[in-house]
Amino acid sequence: MDFQYAPAPESRAVVDIRPSYGLFIGGEFVDGHGEPFKSIDPSNEEPLAEIACADAADVDRAVAAARAAYDGVWGTMPGRERAKYLYRIARIVQERSRELAVLESIDNGKPIRESRDVDLPLVAAHFFYYAGWADKLGHAGFGPDPRPLGVAGQVIPWNFPLLMLAWKIAPALACGNTVVLKPAETTPLTALAFAEICRQADLPPGVVNIVTGAGDTGRALVEHDGVDKVAFTGSTEVGRQIARAVAGTRKKLTLELGGKAANVIFEDAALDQAVEGVVNGIFFNQGHVCCAGSRLLVQESVADELLDRLKRRMTTLRVGDPLDKNTDVGAINSAEQLAKIRALSEIGEREGATRWSPPCELPQRGFWFVPTVFTGVAQSHRIAREEIFGPVLSVLTFRTPAEAVEKANNTPYGLSAGVWTEKGSRILWMAERLRAGVVWANTFNKFDPASPFGGYKESGFGREGGRHGLEAYLNV
Ligand code: NAD
Repeated sequence: MDFQYAPAPESRAVVDIRPSYGLFIGGEFVDGHGEPFKSIDPSNEEPLAEIACADAADVDRAVAAARAAYDGVWGTMPGRERAKYLYRIARIVQERSRELAVLESIDNGKPIRESRDVDLPLVAAHFFYYAGWADKLGHAGFGPDPRPLGVAGQVIPWNFPLLMLAWKIAPALACGNTVVLKPAETTPLTALAFAEICRQADLPPGVVNIVTGAGDTGRALVEHDGVDKVAFTGSTEVGRQIARAVAGTRKKLTLELGGKAANVIFEDAALDQAVEGVVNGIFFNQGHVCCAGSRLLVQESVADELLDRLKRRMTTLRVGDPLDKNTDVGAINSAEQLAKIRALSEIGEREGATRWSPPCELPQRGFWFVPTVFTGVAQSHRIAREEIFGPVLSVLTFRTPAEAVEKANNTPYGLSAGVWTEKGSRILWMAERLRAGVVWANTFNKFDPASPFGGYKESGFGREGGRHGLEAYLNV
């Protein structure tokens, strides 16, 4: 008998989306001078709210508010006092986590199961973790009294909107900096909810400022003279532009960019466990993950068996309503991203790889893409080299560990990698040779605020998370 899932929708009633939002500057919501834009629900294309757009003058106001808060209160406040605010923010995030998870799923399209069980717990964990550092900076290995930098200009992408905000704001504030943050134009709502949380926590006005807008707003922020530190997470292409803009200035810079991670499966691996890791590696968050395991490297001797099991597992993935608690794969974040995924997948077919997807009925409205596997992929194919940033896996094979290393490292990126094997010595051998900031062993896409994260080569530089994450916000 074939049992069906009944719908298990999470309630939208827990969020209160206002018709329009201003910029958050100096502790107040204010009008922007750019052309307002709409944030839409990618699962049905319905507009959610009108969002103010910050022009250069608005960015200037935000930087001035951050500077005043830095000079007047935050930069000189004892660490133990700053910690109290961060703990308070962490607790409010926990208290409001259901509301924030629903809001994130509506604005981004990611399944509620992920925003509820991954994003939100990690957001709170980051604030708790860095709250703990705020009064211990003298013991972090950066000298007895490391000083903050001043005003941080931070620009983040749309794939983990609130989590990327937490990665940026928590360490900056813990170290005594003030911030102006620009969320991505397609996912501003949780950052604006976070602005309300700052007010709820009585954070002094101007310590956190949120300016919404698209690339021009981001450019105005990173190029502003009053910014001491630029932190960017996003595409390698925009990262390059920012590196050029910041070169020759006194600004400190960290870049967290794209990736094309290899997930390497040896013949002695526990295959069912590895299949779960592959699914988690590439279909988690619709594959909108910088460290996604988008290149599967599987040892030739087990390739057929592994692919059979993977395909069987993929037929059980439930694609659809992000707010349904049974959903595994939600909506693609935007029409532009969907077009990019489609275009690269068509190129994959044209270049000669074999495309496969499970049978799947997609909703009529909204932006959707069925989980897809390409086999017969050559290293020269664009789907093996370029970041697709969608639920598309490229499968390559290898015979020896040395060949696996060579293929895994044959990419301009170097953000993450996965190794699946029963042999501990092989894990260490591989980890030593893989040029990736993070190497997961017999697991994938695991995050912890205490663990540094960042890339090599075109995946960027600087580390976020852990003790290393403090360095980017201290004058060391
Ligand atoms: P994107 O580079 O297009 O945009 C990122 C942010 O930069 C957005 O807020 C955007 O408005 C802003 N922006 C655009 N042009 C700008 C400019 N000239 N100056 C300043 N800001 C500008 O990237 P995206 O499409 O939003 O995000 C996807 C990319 O992010 C992927 O490549 C992914 O790998 C990467 N990413 C990396 C990490 C990491 O930690 N390494 C994490 C998440 C996402």
